[in-house]
Amino acid sequence: MSNLAIHLLYRLINSHPYFSCERFFLSQDEIVPLSIESLKPLNEFDVIGISISYELDYFNVIKILESSHIPVFAKDRDLSYPLIIGGGACMNYNPEPIADIFDLILIGEAEDTIKEILDRYIDMKDAVRSKDDLLFSFLDIEGVYIPEFYKDGKPLVDMAPRKVKRRVFRDFDRETACSYIYSPDAVFGDMFLIEIERGCPMKCKFCVAGNIYSPCRIKSLDTVKDTILKYGGKYKKIGLMGPLVGGIPYIEELLKWLIGLNFQVSVSSLRVSTLNMKFLELLKLAGESTITIAPEFLDEKLRAEIGKKESNEKILEVLETLLKFGFRDVKFYMIFGYGDYEIELRSLEIFKKYLTQLLKDYKANVVFNFQPLVPKPFTPLQNYNIPDRRVLQSQKRRIMDTLKHDRIKVRVASIREALIEAALSRGGRDMLPLILKGDKRGIFSVTSAGIPWSFIEI
Ligand code: SF4
Repeated sequence: MSNLAIHLLYRLINSHPYFSCERFFLSQDEIVPLSIESLKPLNEFDVIGISISYELDYFNVIKILESSHIPVFAKDRDLSYPLIIGGGACMNYNPEPIADIFDLILIGEAEDTIKEILDRYIDMKDAVRSKDDLLFSFLDIEGVYIPEFYKDGKPLVDMAPRKVKRRVFRDFDRETACSYIYSPDAVFGDMFLIEIERGCPMKCKFCVAGNIYSPCRIKSLDTVKDTILKYGGKYKKIGLMGPLVGGIPYIEELLKWLIGLNFQVSVSSLRVSTLNMKFLELLKLAGESTITIAPEFLDEKLRAEIGKKESNEKILEVLETLLKFGFRDVKFYMIFGYGDYEIELRSLEIFKKYLTQLLKDYKANVVFNFQPLVPKPFTPLQNYNIPDRRVLQSQKRRIMDTLKHDRIKVRVASIREALIEAALSRGGRDMLPLILKGDKRGIFSVTSAGIPWSFIEI
């Protein structure tokens, strides 16, 4: 429930005159999943929407369909089965590894598309004789991809567009993604999350937010305030979501307003170049205790190469300011598995000397979170060859050794999962048999030919 897309879709679908929306979560046991709202099984619904943010959830998509006794392949389902629609972050840039499961895939943003799909469904469901006729009727909706009508990225039927244009929601103030459903037991359930920015103007070379969710859009201050007043009253804490929250022109005014209403505030990861004294002071006043900054690399050349131009001096200056203000929970997001890593390890070592002095002076600790670079389609690094597991393991060990210190905690994300994610994010339809078998090891060894996502226009 920390995925704001679910909240947004739930509200949009429930506001449709002919639909009501219920939620399903995959249970760990083998029982048939039932909806939260009415305890009905999934196969009794007319339409199923599956939002996928992360490639490793492909395995869960199969599980939930199988445990609901729904044929996994779209071609095996006729009109008597629910129409299955896919969407979410991974579907935006390359749905191919699991395309054969879905009847429709929504490429892009759902705010307007979901209503158009549901309207069309209502108009056509009883008027058509076959599922193909129903699917044909969706072809003119921008952002809709119907996998059955494509092979190897090329349309098989005349009406299917050669390129599927990613749908962009430009009227960004008209709908706001926020914690519409109160779910105190969920991750971040104690916080009212609100999306105040989408897309990022910085376009760092590895980043999906910067390269795919274009253009960068910022919610107006009035919309943010109205939404918080309308839906956020039950909460003590407001989570401001966006890729570059520190750079939003009205951020200080918004923080002052929230402080005035006695809200605590939390923000997503911050970019060093957008941080200033006033902003940090207000964040501290608003009760924020955790600050996450994402230098990605400590070798300045490597950092500049991927699109971040801040110097290490500036990072240390910001860190010292944070420590002065009393922030004691500071996290760094880092990448490994890219570029000349020997140079990066030397830079880590040099940085550590300055860092540990600061930590000693302020009796503070920091956490470094490392993640192997996972190249994504439509980013400038989409063709980057990620090093093999052995190399990544060795880099991981050396990172741990280099940063070893009482005041530094190092966490490294799973290398195995990163390699699976990398393979799936650039994979084609040949991945599906392996996903169906749950053969994660086999997925490493498949390199799909060509550029499977070439039919998408971002
Ligand atoms: S600044 Fe952050 S969100 Fe923006 S493109 Fe770079 S990594 Fe992505």
